[in-house]
Order: sequence, then C-alpha cells, then structure tokens
Amino acid sequence: MSGTIMITGCNRGIGLELTAQFAKDGWRVFACCRDLKKADELNALQAKYPLIEPIQLDVTDYEQMIALGKALKGEPIDILLNNAGYYGPKGTGFGKVDREEWRRVLESNTIAPYMMAETFCDNVAASDYKLIAMMSSKVGSIADNRSGGGYIYRSSKTALNQIVKSLSIDLHDRGITVMALHPGWVKTAMGGPGALISTAQSVAALKKLLTQAGQGKSGRFYNYDGSEIPW
Ligand code: NDP
Repeated sequence: MSGTIMITGCNRGIGLELTAQFAKDGWRVFACCRDLKKADELNALQAKYPLIEPIQLDVTDYEQMIALGKALKGEPIDILLNNAGYYGPKGTGFGKVDREEWRRVLESNTIAPYMMAETFCDNVAASDYKLIAMMSSKVGSIADNRSGGGYIYRSSKTALNQIVKSLSIDLHDRGITVMALHPGWVKTAMGGPGALISTAQSVAALKKLLTQAGQGKSGRFYNYDGSEIPW
C-alpha cells in the first residue's frame, strides 16, 4: 500500500530512516523537522525522492503547529507518526532529577504528541487508512519496570501510553486507530552505539506493523517485531 504519512523528527535517527523507507515505497512523506537548515541528510533524501516534503516544525512550538494545521486543512493524512522524542539528561536516578529538564522532556514526549493528534486528527479522519502512531518506549511500560530509576524519560512515555489509550477511545467513532510503538533498542544518538539493532532493521519491521494496522490494534502497545507489550 501507499498513501500519505506525516512523521516528526525526520532529520536523523529513526525518523530519517522512516522517511527514506516510506519514500522508497512510493509514499508521500510530510517530513517534519525542527530546523530544515541543519537537515542536510533529509534534504539530500528529498533530492532523490521528490515525494518527500520537508516541513519545518518544532513539535513544542504550538503556534507553528497550529499554523501548519491550517496550511494542511483538508489534506488527507493516512498515517500520523509522532516520532520526535527527547531523552533528557542521563543518570537522573533517585535524588538526582532536574525538574526543569523533566518539564522539557514531558513537553516533547507527552504534550507535543497529544497536540499533534489534536491538530491533525481531521486530516487523519479524511484519509483512507486513518492511523495515529506514537513512538513510545518499552521503558514506559509499568509492567516491564524491574530496574527502577529513569524517572524523567520513563514517566514521559508512560503518560504518552495513557494518551494513546484515551485517544483510541475518543477517536474510535471516527474510524481512527491509535497505537503505541516500541522501535527496539536502536543504534541512534539516543540509543547509543551499544544498541541491538540498526535503524534499517527497526524501520523495516515498524513499516510492516504500520501498514497492517486496523481498529483491532487500536489502544494497544506493540514492539517493533509485532508482539504486544503489556502497559
Ligand atoms: P534521536 O535522538 O536520534 O532523534 C530524535 C529526533 O527527535 C531528532 O530528529 C530530533 O530533532 C527530534 N526532536 C526532539 N525534540 C524535538 C522537537 N521539540 N521538535 C522537533 N523535533 C524534535 O532519537 P531516535 O531516533 O532514537 O528516537 C526516535 C523516537 O524513538 C523517540 O521518540 C525515542 O524516544 C523513541 N525510542 C528510541 C529508542 C532507541 O533505542 N533509539 C528506544 C525506544 C524509543 P533535533 O535533531 O532537532 O534535536
């Protein structure tokens, strides 16, 4: 299948690879990134695949987001994929959290993806496929938490998971599927060089999951390999 996908955080990491693989498959890609002037790899990809439309968007700049929503009014978006994310400072164990950084992480990982869903849900509802996917993380799973710590990033993704569940209920009658995804432990700036899989491996599997979604999968949390993760 092909259609239109909107992805955030497309200048590097998993977002850049998602852009490449969907464009290669003939999808029109609204490739959002915070600063197009610094997005050399995305701009090079666009030169190769004209179906890519690079769009400047800082996901925490809601004025910019709402203006984009107005500019794209009436434009069907089959898949809205909220990929942009921020880990925040490392080593923020018990007694060491930075509250200001915690607020920044919540803004990027929790509030911004919700705002994207609110801003673009009419576009998704106007499409044939009607999927909103949120890039969460297994470390946001409460059931999976056996090592403690990670207060900032964990809590931002746990809250995102709850948003996925509520959106799946609230948008059900409009035919929209809403899923949370874990991309695996991926070799990116965030995942680090010791991660288990490449962006190409993660995205090839995610693409299968994203293009085989349906309302039966709404309000659920999936690993990149298609297995379900407990909340
Ligand atoms: P990277 O750190 O490599 O890339 C993060 C991307 O998010 C960059 O494009 C960055 O843009 C963008 N971004 C961050 N904040 C904003 C913002 N305010 N506005 C616009 N763009 C923003 O991370 P990954 O590619 O590894 O991660 C992608 C997603 O996958 C994230 O949501 C992450 O939490 C999740 N994830 C990743 C895992 C991994 O192992 N890598 C594991 C589990 C989940 P800029 O260059 O401008 O900062």
